[in-house]
Amino acid sequence: MPPRRVIGVDAGGTKLLGGVVDEQLVVHHRVHRMWRGSDRQETLDIFVEAVEEIRAAAPDVDAVAFGLPALVHQESGSSAWSTHLPLEGVPFRDLMSERLGVPVHVDNDANVAMLAEHRYGAAAGRDHAAMVLLGTGIGGGLLINGRIYRGATGTGAELGHMVVDYDGPDCQGACPGRGCLEAMASGRAIGREAERLAAERPESALGRRLAAGGEISGATATELAHEGDQDAREALANIGRHLGTGLVSLVNALNPEMIVIGGGAVAAGDLLIDPARQVVAERALPPSRDVVEIVPAHFGAESGMLGAALLALDGGVS
Ligand SMILES: [Zn+2]
Repeated sequence: MPPRRVIGVDAGGTKLLGGVVDEQLVVHHRVHRMWRGSDRQETLDIFVEAVEEIRAAAPDVDAVAFGLPALVHQESGSSAWSTHLPLEGVPFRDLMSERLGVPVHVDNDANVAMLAEHRYGAAAGRDHAAMVLLGTGIGGGLLINGRIYRGATGTGAELGHMVVDYDGPDCQGACPGRGCLEAMASGRAIGREAERLAAERPESALGRRLAAGGEISGATATELAHEGDQDAREALANIGRHLGTGLVSLVNALNPEMIVIGGGAVAAGDLLIDPARQVVAERALPPSRDVVEIVPAHFGAESGMLGAALLALDGGVS
């Protein structure tokens, strides 16, 4: 019998990544989509188009699962609220299974990323871990006593919305908070910090990039930093320290064995993570700070997609 195949879809704040994945977690076909506009119908249409494109290449899939950047009610499969996509109050699972005609499962994107990293990735064999997904925003997943922890209504573990600065900047998207970790340390925050340094230093490589392009993204800053640019490295280090500030609270509150850093911004690697580790070493409480390992995701930016595929292979949340 050929191995079962499913479709895993990871919906980020600015783009979607989907793939056909088999039981050995081999990815056979990938699609990328950017969100157009901000309309709910258009957003749902993009989900359907992406899945249909994948099914055209692999019609034999058993099920589809989605990791959403949203608070997801497990029992109903509804998206209760989302910072970045217009998915508030959408009965996502029912709607998608009706449109796609296959079993559909749905969970928060960082919860499924935690699942993939726990089962086959960086946190394999661990019982207490946290997942921090750095992208447009910051997603969070928690593994407590060997199980994904979701809170009373399934909408917890929003680690990106832990407040790290009472007087901090307004949070992103629809979050009513200020000074959330997401506002201080997401991929977008890397871009904003790089732009701030570029404006201060017009003669630097960052400054010239800003003058030429009018905008610096987190990806651009990361690329320059890997090429050795000191100003771009400084931007990453500044954001890494903000990230570390949030991780101090996580370490003190939960005493995890491991914090896995994933999402697109993990491309910055140790240039971002080392300053975060340093802050945890200096400010978190012993012995928790001495136990915790802070590591990049084994599956890089694909843990969300692979975790969604695992959810589909599992037939939903256990
Ligand atoms: Zn927030």
